[in-house]
Amino acid sequence: MACRTCGVPLNRYVDLDTRQVRYQHPARVIAGPAGHRPDPAPLDEVDARHVCDFCSDERIAYTFHTTPISAVTDTKRGRLVEHYGTDWSACFLCAGLVQAQDLHGLHQRLRQTGPPLDPVATSAAQVMQQAVLQSLLPGMAVANLGRWPAVPLPAPTLPKVRDRLANLYACPLRLPLGLDDPAVRGALADSVTAARLFWIDPEFTELATYAAGSLPATHLTATDLPAPHGLLAWAQPVGPRADLVAASWTSGPHGLRVVGYRSFGAGLPAGDLQRFREQLGWLGPRVHVLLPPGEPVDAGSPVAVLAASWLLIAQRLTETTPVPVDKAIRKAYQRSGRPAPEVRLVRIRGATTARPTGEAATTHLSERDGPARPRDHRWWVKAHWRRQPYGPGRTLRRPLLVLPQLRGPDDKPIKASTVVRMLAAAPPPPDSPRPGPGQ
Ligand SMILES: [Zn+2]
Ligand SMILES: [Zn+2]
Repeated sequence: MACRTCGVPLNRYVDLDTRQVRYQHPARVIAGPAGHRPDPAPLDEVDARHVCDFCSDERIAYTFHTTPISAVTDTKRGRLVEHYGTDWSACFLCAGLVQAQDLHGLHQRLRQTGPPLDPVATSAAQVMQQAVLQSLLPGMAVANLGRWPAVPLPAPTLPKVRDRLANLYACPLRLPLGLDDPAVRGALADSVTAARLFWIDPEFTELATYAAGSLPATHLTATDLPAPHGLLAWAQPVGPRADLVAASWTSGPHGLRVVGYRSFGAGLPAGDLQRFREQLGWLGPRVHVLLPPGEPVDAGSPVAVLAASWLLIAQRLTETTPVPVDKAIRKAYQRSGRPAPEVRLVRIRGATTARPTGEAATTHLSERDGPARPRDHRWWVKAHWRRQPYGPGRTLRRPLLVLPQLRGPDDKPIKASTVVRMLAAAPPPPDSPRPGPGQ
């Protein structure tokens, strides 16, 4: 359970006489005094707020494991025993101090960057830090908790990002989300190394996000994928928490393995950032799904935006163009004898990513308004998913996003805000197809 008001995971107490359960903000001091009564809600209903257990920074990088740790506090109401368990979240800087067994450094960082604490709370936190250092088990895991600023990846850097991600799968750090199984890690390391790179431009990202919201249950097949193994980055963060900037997929005998990634590292001071990139790279696993053959994906799936992106690419609503890769990255590939890296920019067919320049506005009239002011952008007028027959005897069905009309002057950019507004009319359910073009 977590608190609905502040998002902090709550401690559960059972009164041994009455069997009554009550929830309290953890005295795990570092989250700071709550200042309100706990309002318990199941963890999956609250966007739980996880912070570094040593300094309360939200930018968690690693998880440490200890033998079980408990704290005993004497309060006015009696003695309070809290079981803190075995998992400890650490920001990048605290993780370095924990690894170095630097208790003094941890105390100092808590004083400098942690929440304001009274002397009692401070010494309790210090005792806790000491207990963690004394009970530490070897190894640490890449964290998937906490919050980092979502920073989309520039297309020309994708080959470097991909290589660093492949290293993360191959390195000795433990991984979260069930990715730690050696067979899974090995397959992912190979797959990411060979992954085709896709960068989705802002308009297409917006369209894919919209389309994902009404995605009907879809059985994905190999022909829906733009490549058997891929790494795809969006121009804006996507997903229910708007924190996914990329996803990888791996085709294998057990199905399609998809990992969604958050960006991390951004905002650290330069020297720390460089060490961060060396240790962890740019992408941290946030969502992991294995889709066994025949298992459908729909709007509720954590990988819905990726599935919508694939389907839109497969139905040729998009065009791809090569992106020039960073010169330094190209040279590094050359030096190590690898073939030149390729990044494909994917955008809506006919979209102009950049506004054309040096051209007098040609007068284009909108059909309905009659003679009217010239338009400086294009916009979508209607979209819905249709179930399209395909395959042997046309007996199979796959969803097809119907975008019947793109209105406005051909040489003008597609206005992103109108994509959302014009498409936001609720699409009909996929089983009641509407007449569209070609029907
Ligand atoms: Zn609260
Ligand atoms: Zn910290």
